[in-house]
Amino acid sequence: MLLELQEISLSYGRIQALHEISLTVDQGEIVALIGANGAGKSTTMRAVSGLRPVSHGKIIFDGQDITKLRADLRVVRGVSQSPEGRGIFPGMTVRDNLEMGAYTRRNRVEINKDLDRAFSLFPRLKERERQMGGTMSGGEQQMLAVGRALMSRPKLLLLDEPSMGLAPMLIQQIFDIIVEINQQGTTILLVEQNAQQALSRAHRAYVLETGRIVKSGTGSELLSDPSVKDAYLGVA
Ligand code: ATP
Repeated sequence: MLLELQEISLSYGRIQALHEISLTVDQGEIVALIGANGAGKSTTMRAVSGLRPVSHGKIIFDGQDITKLRADLRVVRGVSQSPEGRGIFPGMTVRDNLEMGAYTRRNRVEINKDLDRAFSLFPRLKERERQMGGTMSGGEQQMLAVGRALMSRPKLLLLDEPSMGLAPMLIQQIFDIIVEINQQGTTILLVEQNAQQALSRAHRAYVLETGRIVKSGTGSELLSDPSVKDAYLGVA
């Protein structure tokens, strides 16, 4: 098991956003978290990446308890997040944005290899290598954020809404790339509003409702589950 959340709770002031959530991600899997707006998907990601402290429960990563570990040290251990809303550096070139993703690493040869890998996954980034991040289109910035997260060579890649704001054709493409990244050996935990795509690409998934996990199963089990269809897939 690569990641295990054991009954974690998290609050923003007096608002409890997560109620004793437990989930696991095995080495090599794509696991999706789906749920309505405000269900706690992004909050779960923040708990894993260390951007918000949990008030209860444990986070085990790669056999170690990381519950109280600082976010930057989690990156060093192999957890990397591509945040919702992209969060790239607008005043830096595409190439420098990617380089920033490798800030914890020193081996130039290996970093260059990963730059080449990011450019081959996202040819658009190669074409725009010297363009400022902030002048890239929304979809291109999304690709840049995923490329940058990969530059830390993570064991676990956290993707928060990678399809957000993308045109339908690009949604297919970004999910194809996610599957390719996974097939190259990176384990992925994915948060998505686009439940259809997420469930059809993920090995397993969890459904969150108001801060609690209400259902879990394989992607195909959940795709054919009547209550999931009804609530998240827009078909009865
Ligand atoms: P969406 O799909 O809309 O992004 P989500 O499932 O990712 O939703 P979260 O962003 O995790 O949901 O939010 C869970 C709950 O926590 C919501 O009720 C939200 O209002 C609350 N919340 C999130 N961030 C904060 C914050 N910084 N301060 C206070 N409350 C917050």
